[in-house]
Amino acid sequence: MPIICSKCRSANAEVQIPYAKLNLCPCCFTDFYKARVRRTVEEFKMFREDDAVGVAVSGGKDSAALLQVLRLAYPSLELKALHINLGVPEYSTHCQQKVEKLANMLNVELHVFSLPEELGMGIGDFEKTPFKGKLCSACGTIKRRIFEKLAIKAHVRVLATGHNLEDVAGVMFNNFLYGRWEQFVRLKPVLPPLAKGMASKVKPLIKCPENENMLYCLYNDIPFREIDCPYADEIGVRKRAKILEFLSRDNPYFRHQLLSRFLEIMPIVEGITQKPELSQCKVCGFPSLSEVCAFCRRIAMVKEAIGKI
Ligand SMILES: [Zn+2]
Ligand SMILES: [Zn+2]
Repeated sequence: MPIICSKCRSANAEVQIPYAKLNLCPCCFTDFYKARVRRTVEEFKMFREDDAVGVAVSGGKDSAALLQVLRLAYPSLELKALHINLGVPEYSTHCQQKVEKLANMLNVELHVFSLPEELGMGIGDFEKTPFKGKLCSACGTIKRRIFEKLAIKAHVRVLATGHNLEDVAGVMFNNFLYGRWEQFVRLKPVLPPLAKGMASKVKPLIKCPENENMLYCLYNDIPFREIDCPYADEIGVRKRAKILEFLSRDNPYFRHQLLSRFLEIMPIVEGITQKPELSQCKVCGFPSLSEVCAFCRRIAMVKEAIGKI
């Protein structure tokens, strides 16, 4: 006997939401997902209905779902898609195609920054620097700064990223375990702009489990990448996911509870964490912890390695 949807009581249920004790049909699941994103945006006051918001889209399922659901949930939002072409052969072309298709489908303006075209390099060039072996960390630093630049160029007040529940709860858990409080605080759902003229950063999918983002894409015909980045540090990510999976086995609420408790202690952690003194990078002018910022130092390192300086 098929299970009937707990909301509409007419269609067959296809999605089980164990932590909410719901069985939903695809249509009611889409409504459920959209309503949760709206509640999250309102709970943390991420932006207004008529704000200018840029979504950092990678081509992956999470950010693709985010762009589509924001278009659907907030029709009067001035929405823009921001994408970085990382210059990874095959992979980056594939990702950009998916992002272009999605932006077209939703009629959203797309801004692309291409590493090979604008900086004459690709992420793979970090293999020739001391960052060999920790490419993902270097890539994260590069992406963070470029998205900040794209947000300024696209004139958006808010920069939204597709961090999902497992990303945030998992990394918070790790930082908590090692007492890395500065990094812990950086995972807040809303981060104010680093300097005047820069965008604030928000995570509207912070309460959406990864598998629900995937289902949302599939049920709504949202294009997303089908291949993985050849440099991705899958081992680290899988290790973290495994701990959370284990702890969620007997308690379907576990990941949401973990996130809630972390958000409760956030103000206390913020209180005991020293705010870093930011000055201006003497190369790019962006806020920086040191004379030359982490982004500019990494770019210079690559350019030296590939003989472009
Ligand atoms: Zn239904
Ligand atoms: Zn700089």
